[in-house]
Amino acid sequence: MAQIKCIGILTSGGDAPGMNAAIRAVTRSAIYAGFRVKGIYRGYRGLITDEIVEFKTQNVSNIIQQGGTILKTARCKEFTTPEGRKQAFDILQKEEIDALVVIGGDGSLTGARVFATEYNFPIVGLPGTIDNDLFGTDTTIGYDTALNTIMECVDKIRDTATSHERLFFIEVMGRDAGFLALNGAIATGAEAAIIPEISVEIDQLEELVKNGFRKSKNSSIVIVAESPITGGAMGLAERVKKEYPQYDVRVTILGHLQRGGSPSASDRILASRMGAAAIDALLEDQRNVMIGIRNDEIVYVPFFKAIKNDKPINRDLLNTLRRLSI
Ligand code: ADP
Repeated sequence: MAQIKCIGILTSGGDAPGMNAAIRAVTRSAIYAGFRVKGIYRGYRGLITDEIVEFKTQNVSNIIQQGGTILKTARCKEFTTPEGRKQAFDILQKEEIDALVVIGGDGSLTGARVFATEYNFPIVGLPGTIDNDLFGTDTTIGYDTALNTIMECVDKIRDTATSHERLFFIEVMGRDAGFLALNGAIATGAEAAIIPEISVEIDQLEELVKNGFRKSKNSSIVIVAESPITGGAMGLAERVKKEYPQYDVRVTILGHLQRGGSPSASDRILASRMGAAAIDALLEDQRNVMIGIRNDEIVYVPFFKAIKNDKPINRDLLNTLRRLSI
């Protein structure tokens, strides 16, 4: 094993509940294994600008229950350029950081992969994203909490939808992935989910109307994944107004509140297990891998697989939703 003495840790891209639990687990497992740890603030931007602080166990005390990320997060254009990554490499050398743990989504792990390849630098990734869109892992840090937040919001909207006998389109996050929309719909007893994965196969709005939604019901809730293809909840509502003017349609976009809040027990446990596994991976001389979880077992997923492949939606879930919304 290349001699690793000090591990840097950063969070990057969109924040997700449970990132703090992951930071804590990485820090403590690393110290337990005899490594030094440095916290890198503001993702790749802080790596380039040297916003780096030595972390002891107490730096991560009392954070497991907090949403967001104590390390802050950012998007960083410079890191997408060779010059920017060279600056990052120089800072890593100056700070004597020998390996990195990167917590983030698809974009952040793509950046990690590019950098790790370019500089032959050991990096382990943790899937931190509410979208659950990384291939090779059953779930991601933040997804369960976001799903629970969606459920609580939709339950509240259901009360007003029922009172007014209206059709509600509720837009949730997940630009390229309908996991939040589909499971959110099942969890709230919604009529349907409109998701990007099948938007090229069928006209989901037409299908919804054809299936006679609202016939026997006094309110209808449809969960819509944000999507440039369908136009999201607003785009669909516009279509309803034009094509099916008999329906009284309302739109709610849940937006950023889906990212916030204290992480659920599942996310805290997942983040803790994955954070500890990141250190195991480095001890085993693994590099360029994302920590995943499959059938409740920790797995190592090569970056190129986690990033490049679209994670397929479980079609059984679609059928379950259809059967239960009659
Ligand atoms: P997320 O990790 O939530 O998907 P982004 O897609 O915004 O978030 O990516 C976060 C950061 O990762 C970007 O701001 C950039 O610094 C870095 N990144 C993304 N794609 C690349 C790439 N192809 N090469 C290098 N860095 C990248």
